[in-house]
Amino acid sequence: MDFNLNVIKKEDYDVVVVGGGIAGIAASVSAARNGANVLLIEKQINLGGLATGGLISWYEPLCDGKGNQMIYGIAEELIKLSAKYGFDNIPEKWGGSGIHPPKSQRYATRYATLFSPTVFSAALDEFVLENGVNIRFDSRATYPVMDGNICKGIIVESVSGSEFFGAKAVIDATGDALVMHRAGVPTVEGENFMTYLVHMYDMEDVKKLIKTGDICRFRRWVGRGSDMFGNGHPEGMGMLKGVTSEDITDYVITGKKSMLEYVKTLDKDGFDIMTLPTMPQLRTIRRIVGKCDFNAIDGETFADSIGSCGDFRPRHIGKHYQIPKGALYNEKFPNLFAAGRIISAPKGDGWEVARVIPTCALTGEAAGKIAAHI
Ligand SMILES: Cc1cc2nc3c(=O)[nH]c(=O)nc-3n(C[C@H](O)[C@H](O)[C@H](O)COP(=O)(O)OP(=O)(O)OC[C@H]3O[C@@H](n4cnc5c(N)ncnc54)[C@H](O)[C@@H]3O)c2cc1C
Repeated sequence: MDFNLNVIKKEDYDVVVVGGGIAGIAASVSAARNGANVLLIEKQINLGGLATGGLISWYEPLCDGKGNQMIYGIAEELIKLSAKYGFDNIPEKWGGSGIHPPKSQRYATRYATLFSPTVFSAALDEFVLENGVNIRFDSRATYPVMDGNICKGIIVESVSGSEFFGAKAVIDATGDALVMHRAGVPTVEGENFMTYLVHMYDMEDVKKLIKTGDICRFRRWVGRGSDMFGNGHPEGMGMLKGVTSEDITDYVITGKKSMLEYVKTLDKDGFDIMTLPTMPQLRTIRRIVGKCDFNAIDGETFADSIGSCGDFRPRHIGKHYQIPKGALYNEKFPNLFAAGRIISAPKGDGWEVARVIPTCALTGEAAGKIAAHI
């Protein structure tokens, strides 16, 4: 293969996973457990993606809301890991500590939890490394190198320069389908309201913590902009797609400005922001068009199902959805796989269910297993 002189040829791997969010973590560990030599490339310096750096810190349920566990495997290992070195509020029925029981009735019986994004992120390094995955931090995958529709590997930009890592299979777990989009896989863009969340505490929170010992709720979300349904979206601002640098910059500036305006109304000696998000909190940026779609239809079955999940939304308690393997790839690109919130799940119920943490772990685990056996 011919390279531009500026690109340094590095090692070949069986599987290269791009993106160290929940999906990429599950994919890389799964591929490694299936015997593959795996490289995980992450552009930030911490693992967890939106779940940690995006300050989401709420692991949606692994159960269906009627007492049935729907997702097992790495998704369950990860919920347990989120609680291993830090607080949790997993109900005791599901093996939680019971020290900080869920407050809302809605979650009293669900296999879900709040977690510390910082402690969980540190634990994710340990998990991934213990499973034999090689990691490159602070390294941005730029372009897949294609031979027709076969991906030969990935070009990665870092302080080392431009490097090429060869791969038999590549998993795109970027959250915005950057790799598959650039490889020529058809993709669809999402639309997002402006949401900007931080974790904050003030003196009232400190007093409450001392009184109750409930460390779980000390990290308080403070959001600017919109809720999930568009209430609070800034007037005059269009919907955000997140697929151009201008769009992301607009989002970041608007979000931070709005947060700062709020902060100016507070007693400056009486609060602190724990961390700003390190990535845009956009729910649906871009997803692939796969061999088939995941539409989250209760009871729909697939011959190539990779597993089932429930629905985190209270109105959809008790629903059971199978996820088809065909949602993870486009048949014209046989060694490229999607994991996490970029799978082929059209707008509506499919994308809503596919994008939450447990489902991302499930599709990541499946993508890793498939890629390892290619
Ligand atoms: C406002 C908001 C609220 C939410 N609330 C919840 C909730 O309460 N519970 C829940 O379960 N889910 C929630 N979600 C959804 C959930 O957090 C995410 O969809 C999920 O964590 C996505 O995981 P992922 O691994 O697919 O992608 P991401 O978390 O986006 O991970 C992608 C990773 O890839 C890296 N990356 C991207 N491009 C490159 C590149 N070119 N090279 C190298 N690395 C790259 C990124 O840095 C990141 O680490 C929420 C999402 C939002 C935005």
